[in-house]
Amino acid sequence: MCLAPALARAPLSATVSPMCNCSQLPFAVADPEERSFAFSGMAYFPKYFEALEGIELDEGVVASQISRRCEACGQWWWIVVGLDETPFPLFALKTLNENPPEPTLVASAQSFLCILAHGGFSPGRCRHKGCANWKLSGRELCHLHLAFP
Ligand SMILES: [Zn+2]
Ligand SMILES: [Zn+2]
Repeated sequence: MCLAPALARAPLSATVSPMCNCSQLPFAVADPEERSFAFSGMAYFPKYFEALEGIELDEGVVASQISRRCEACGQWWWIVVGLDETPFPLFALKTLNENPPEPTLVASAQSFLCILAHGGFSPGRCRHKGCANWKLSGRELCHLHLAFP
């Protein structure tokens, strides 16, 4: 496993005043870095793949999905938790309150980030039987038939 992403997720030192980047982030972000695939689109759309600076998931988090409020600015985030040794937000969506968002809203946001992460499509059809979508760049499947993040 690469060490750099793990270090980047380490808690901020107590001497650093609480800050966040919520207002600079788009409506949804993802962190697919742990995966083996090189996501060529992440460099072109970096805002969608930034870490949530105002949200820390402590070691005790075992839920795969969780609502959290940023302590610095009050923004609510609905988070799909990556259950690593240190839990981290695999995917996060801005919400108005602690209630989970509609599944269709989550799915459409994940599809959008999936397309961005791959840097778009290849000129060829998705291999999934009966699917007429373009395949994602570097893949054999489309955004509907490839799990992301
Ligand atoms: Zn915030
Ligand atoms: Zn497809």
